[in-house]
Amino acid sequence: MCGIVGFVGSTEPQNIIVEGLKKLEYRGYDSAGIAVVNERGITIRKHVGEIKNLEALIGNERLGGRVGIGHTRWATHGAPSTVNSHPHQDQAGRIALVHNGLIENYLELKGELLEEGVQFKSETDTEVAAQLIGKYYGQCHDLKEALDKAVARMEGAFALGLVAADQPDMLVAYRKNAPLVVGIGKGFNMIASDFAPLLEYTKDVYLLENGDTVVLTADNVDIYDESDKKVERETLHIKWNVDAAEKGDYEFFMMKEIHEQPQGIRETLDRNIDENGRISLYGIDLTAEDLARFNKIYIVACGTAYHAGLVGRYLIEKLARIPVEVDIASEFRYRDPFVDDKTLFIAISQSGETADTLEALRLAGRKGARILSIVNVVGSSVARESDDVFYTWAGPEIAVASTKAYTTQLLCLYILALYFADLRGTVDEEYYRHFIDELKAIPEKQEEVLKIEDTMKALAADYYDRDQVFFIGRG
Ligand code: GLU
Repeated sequence: MCGIVGFVGSTEPQNIIVEGLKKLEYRGYDSAGIAVVNERGITIRKHVGEIKNLEALIGNERLGGRVGIGHTRWATHGAPSTVNSHPHQDQAGRIALVHNGLIENYLELKGELLEEGVQFKSETDTEVAAQLIGKYYGQCHDLKEALDKAVARMEGAFALGLVAADQPDMLVAYRKNAPLVVGIGKGFNMIASDFAPLLEYTKDVYLLENGDTVVLTADNVDIYDESDKKVERETLHIKWNVDAAEKGDYEFFMMKEIHEQPQGIRETLDRNIDENGRISLYGIDLTAEDLARFNKIYIVACGTAYHAGLVGRYLIEKLARIPVEVDIASEFRYRDPFVDDKTLFIAISQSGETADTLEALRLAGRKGARILSIVNVVGSSVARESDDVFYTWAGPEIAVASTKAYTTQLLCLYILALYFADLRGTVDEEYYRHFIDELKAIPEKQEEVLKIEDTMKALAADYYDRDQVFFIGRG
């Protein structure tokens, strides 16, 4: 699942979209493309490989127009190639579509379209959606209606961005189990897979719910829910600066993020420990009675967050004396886990969009568990679908190998364990005070460690080539 950027306004969208795609590069991708609606209809430029290949293809050409969509692809259906890259069109060239995610029943829909004589250019599931939307648009001449009709027939997970050749001022989007946010501007509006491409232009966003269809023009955003009712969605003001999602003077994002750890820990401590040195959790509403009801805690996550969970088990069992099970989300959801209304379910996710964790959380919710999440991205799906949320204030984590998100997740688990212990009366006041003092000392200690960066680099270079050294990385 990769990246989408869309823009509608009074300026030409080309640069905003290409620069926006670059802000999503960290997610990994194999090709990139852009579609702009201009006086010639729809102009599409796409290329396999890096965004710079797309830029080279475009050269000095000005695509014009006032509305456009862009995409970075992570191939799921069909090899990485220029023809398979997005945007895709219907055969009449009425519309152009970008898509993140996958359409599970695409073969069935493709079979039906083939029988009607539709000819396909690519191997993707996305082109099937484009052909279907194009067909409906030809019938109803209403872009939103065409999209709604098509998604009603599509199964799977998808974020979609759609433009039409005869709609030079309109962008339509849809979201279901794949991330998509709307950036609210003055005289323009945008869509993107995450906040990073928006921050330079606006910090106000709408958080979409699953099943929402959005119609954007330069001056207006209309959101319709699953049952096609026009709705108001929560707006969020992002506090990150543009440079929070950029490398700055660092060579790599990972290096920058290693150095941002003390800042993330400080911020998370400040927001959860009051001036009297007591834990005060905004967003968590668990009482001593609630805790007394739980006979078990389940911590469920994927990858690095799962490893934070393993530490969390030791902490919670030791301090609060509640049995804890830790599970990988993909395993949890394919078993029939022992979860009921006496279970506290803790989901951990940096992005808050981890698909398996989200599904595991929903499963636990259906079984009656209370859901608490530890999440970095404010307003993300995991956060919104939880009863209680404990945010890690690490700021955007771009590098795939987790650093500051992991250490702030650990901090949240330390705080949570002590909070539970305090509610259950399993630690005394002296221990509590000492524990808080130790937590508060962490940022300074981290800063001390980061001062010997050059020594660590020299040691790493020394060990790098040795056969007997094992590197354990994120799977
Ligand atoms: N399933 C689509 C494809 O293979 C979209 C993949 C993506 O999310 O980038 O083209």
